[in-house]
Amino acid sequence: MSRKIICRYCKKLFTQSPYHPHQEVCSSEDCQRRRKREAVILRHIKGYSCKETAEAVGMSNNATRKAVHAGLRKAHEACIWEQKNTGTAKCNNSKTSNKAASNK
Ligand SMILES: [Zn+2]
Repeated sequence: MSRKIICRYCKKLFTQSPYHPHQEVCSSEDCQRRRKREAVILRHIKGYSCKETAEAVGMSNNATRKAVHAGLRKAHEACIWEQKNTGTAKCNNSKTSNKAASNK
């Protein structure tokens, strides 16, 4: 059974997938992107646990983990790009991961 609900981001009516009864966001690319970004912010800036993040954005634990990982990688790539092109380092993810590897 599927029902129509309003997307929490674009406020458009959409039909919930019968396989995802807790779905709150439509499948448009824009809304899915916003949801993933929200997941990254909750998990890494607000310090939510993976389960709390999953509940807040209405995704499964697994999907949340994947989305957060992909989002972080994108953010990190953007940082490296900015470093190369402007000479400013806004994040030092690569440094910390190198250190962690050499400490082993
Ligand atoms: Zn939407």
